[in-house]
Amino acid sequence: MKDVVLTGDRPTGPLHLGHYFGSLANRVKLQDVHPMYVLIADYQVITDRDLPGRIQRNITELLLDYLAVGLDPAKVTIFRHSAIPELNQLLLPFLSLVSVAELQRNPTVKDEIAHSSQRAVSGLMFTYPVHQAADILFCKGTLVPVGRDQLPHVEMTRLVARRFNERYGEVFPLPEAMMGERPLLRGLDGGKMSKSRGNAITLSATEEETAALIRKARTDPDRLITFDETHRPEVANLLTLAALCLGRSPQDVAEEIGYGGAAALKRLVTEAVNEFLRPIRKRRKEHSEQDVRQILAEGDERARERAVVTLDEVKAAMGF
Ligand code: ATP
Ligand code: MG
Repeated sequence: MKDVVLTGDRPTGPLHLGHYFGSLANRVKLQDVHPMYVLIADYQVITDRDLPGRIQRNITELLLDYLAVGLDPAKVTIFRHSAIPELNQLLLPFLSLVSVAELQRNPTVKDEIAHSSQRAVSGLMFTYPVHQAADILFCKGTLVPVGRDQLPHVEMTRLVARRFNERYGEVFPLPEAMMGERPLLRGLDGGKMSKSRGNAITLSATEEETAALIRKARTDPDRLITFDETHRPEVANLLTLAALCLGRSPQDVAEEIGYGGAAALKRLVTEAVNEFLRPIRKRRKEHSEQDVRQILAEGDERARERAVVTLDEVKAAMGF
């Protein structure tokens, strides 16, 4: 059976290098081989925020990022949660298949709660991994290109699919996660590079903004640059960024810098990142907001057709 690919992002801000090496690069490769759905998870923005914020703006920017890295809307269905009621309705039967204890055990949810600035943790924070199960299963997705933080959610999806099939008959395939070249890229503060944590090199930033960010990154005073993830995590992280962008090993990059110290290191990283992102940044400017609206309207329609079929099947299996 041919794989169906499902993946997506929250429209919480511009995409960054973590997305690129964690997931986007795989998507661009897979779009030529498999049917693929890319979800703009707009409803999930409110899991850890009081308000959706500049949601329309963020959706437009996210789509421009997709086009910039080379996702092709002729091959890929790009759609939004809020446009597909039938997808969201799957949440109801799916939630009945998991226990509260299982929801509370999720390590990624725990990490996100720890980094959230909200005063109270919402119910949606605990249930959003089941929403993600609906995202993956509505199109019977079998392959999910994601970063490491998403593995517990793909596991949750498999649990939901397995239990649904046991209870109501074979409806869903069990999806597999597919991790990118760098399943956890760290940001300039050493934590997971995240849109929400102010530590990201975004695809759409200018060369000057990128240089300023890298200039502020922490390093250490040792002039000999070596790749040592345990004892020199900040330096190792910068070397990793450069290495990914150059397609070389971090050890190799460290050797080239030698006794150049932090200044030479930062110069090289800035150069490598800006060089790598130049064609992406250029392509981003080639698309208009009119293109974006058109792509979304078509994607939403295709995704909705798929969701209607699956929801019908689910209701029939359940005897409704
Ligand atoms: P937010 O902080 O708003 O949650 P985010 O940066 O975590 O944003 P998401 O939209 O939650 O981005 O994640 C989209 C996809 O990108 C997921 O598949 C996730 O695993 C992947 N991803 C995000 N950050 C990284 C990272 N630092 N390294 C590798 N993959 C990542
Ligand atoms: Mg996230």
